[in-house]
Amino acid sequence: MGYEELLDEAYENVEATCECSRFEILKVKGHHEGIRTVVSNFAQVAMCVRRTQEHLLKFLTKELASSGEIKGDRLIFSRKLTSKNINEKIEKYVNRFVLCPKCHKSDTELINEGAKLFMKCLACGEKNEVHKI
Ligand SMILES: [Zn+2]
Repeated sequence: MGYEELLDEAYENVEATCECSRFEILKVKGHHEGIRTVVSNFAQVAMCVRRTQEHLLKFLTKELASSGEIKGDRLIFSRKLTSKNINEKIEKYVNRFVLCPKCHKSDTELINEGAKLFMKCLACGEKNEVHKI
């Protein structure tokens, strides 16, 4: 492996690490571009809650009644929203799809079983059905 390849790999490892030392919802960094709202740290927010950008996007667009598209690390909503609006919805998402209802830890994963979706807690083993978005 060449020197540059090693550098690339080191860089990727840094990027894949979540900056949250303990579980904390990262606040969105949003600004308006005309009538649209751009969340510039969307990829990081999704990484912090350990869910895919697509799943989080689906929830947010439904809750905020706005269409949205992912461009790189950014999420662009088609209408004006405040960061507060978006943060509240992310909190709702976390309560519904990330935190274990029993032990309140975030070491959970979503599992598809047939037509159903379950959240399994890796900390206490609790498994609950969650509603699909
Ligand atoms: Zn648990």
